[in-house]
Amino acid sequence: MEFVDLNRTQEIGASSFWVKLGPFELIIDAGLSPKVAGHDALPNWDKVEPGTIDAILLTHCHLDHVGGLPVLIRQQPQAAVFTSPASATLAPRMLKNSHSVMFKQREELNILEYPLFSSTDIRVTEDKLRPLRTEKEITLHKNDETLSITFHHAGHIPGAVGILLNYKNRKIFFTGDVLFEKQAILAGAKFPKGPFDTLVLETTRGATERPESLTRSSETHRLFEVIRNTLKNGGSCLIPSFALGRMQEILTLLHQARSTKEIPECPIICSGLGMDLVDILDTVAPGTPEITFRRKIIKDLNVRKLPKKWTPGKKELKQGIYVLSSGMLVAKTPSYRVAASLLGDKRNAICFVGYCAPDTPGGQLLEASANEPFLFEDLDLAPDLKAHVEQFDLSGHAQRDELLDYAHSVDPRSVVLTHGDPDARTWFEEQLAETLPKTKVINPTPGEAYLI
Ligand SMILES: [Zn+2]
Ligand SMILES: [Zn+2]
Repeated sequence: MEFVDLNRTQEIGASSFWVKLGPFELIIDAGLSPKVAGHDALPNWDKVEPGTIDAILLTHCHLDHVGGLPVLIRQQPQAAVFTSPASATLAPRMLKNSHSVMFKQREELNILEYPLFSSTDIRVTEDKLRPLRTEKEITLHKNDETLSITFHHAGHIPGAVGILLNYKNRKIFFTGDVLFEKQAILAGAKFPKGPFDTLVLETTRGATERPESLTRSSETHRLFEVIRNTLKNGGSCLIPSFALGRMQEILTLLHQARSTKEIPECPIICSGLGMDLVDILDTVAPGTPEITFRRKIIKDLNVRKLPKKWTPGKKELKQGIYVLSSGMLVAKTPSYRVAASLLGDKRNAICFVGYCAPDTPGGQLLEASANEPFLFEDLDLAPDLKAHVEQFDLSGHAQRDELLDYAHSVDPRSVVLTHGDPDARTWFEEQLAETLPKTKVINPTPGEAYLI
């Protein structure tokens, strides 16, 4: 196999891998980096000759995996595009949202190449998506050779899959983003047993050690406790959440907590895209038994939308729980605006429930000192940090030890490290060298071809 990591940096950015197996050429994922603006947010597809790719395989619909897909399909219109059935429905909605965000950014930030794709490109993409159920093998044929592809449920978010390729009895498994633990809305990953020749491993949490006493359940109850105390003291709670998966997970947890009276009745406010995805998830759930989310909880919780025109400083927010995107408080998003409004009052709380890159406003807020001004540059506001700011370990990614155990169980000849910051990859490199000394570990340099 020839393998090229097309992400431009060795961190979580625009996921995309170029794989050559005999006569077959594949691309796995076509992301858009959340950290970079303009054309450079796309993977580096310059060396992939247009019209040469046989199939594009999508692991899931987070933008760092799907956000560049319409551009790739424009370059590779002949390629068959396979996704899970849930992702086939979710992808167009995610792309439409990304398109309108880029449209706004074109004006506001003067990025002239935005949007990177048109509404027509999204329609073309939607028509090309071929749903493939998990555990159902399909076979591609070329020059009298065959390549088989099987998707496996990956937990993480609804529709996420790991991908197994089998070419001449060589097995290559891509974990994609994975969570082995069960979530309130989704079963944990059901990954295949090895042995594999190559394991392409996500490493998101490689630099994060979790004490044994800390569990998903203990973190959930700790979150409920902060919410309970905040509301009792007259404050509001902001839970910044990714719109896809995380927001519906948090709402389902709040629903459970309310029925067990762990949190009191109070207004719950959400933002646009996450609420649209509620409807989509409810439609795709019957075809994907792993998804246990039900829209009914939204009605039970009497969830309201954040008024579109509301701006911080102009009008007081109602007391309540705000579950808003983005998860990392990216500028101009609803969570960013509400954080700016809540931060200056010590009765309020901001509860992070997922990964925050250090260079995002969320990452910076987690490192900021209490009682010092915190700058919301895009709003020209700098309230003193008075609110309670805390992070809860409810990640959508597997623990590093679980990934290491999985790597051991499939006994790979080689492991390729992906989807992690440099220190996360280093941990895996060291651990794998020590515990699987015969296995070749590759931390790929972006754009370089590896014969594996
Ligand atoms: Zn993801
Ligand atoms: Zn990802």
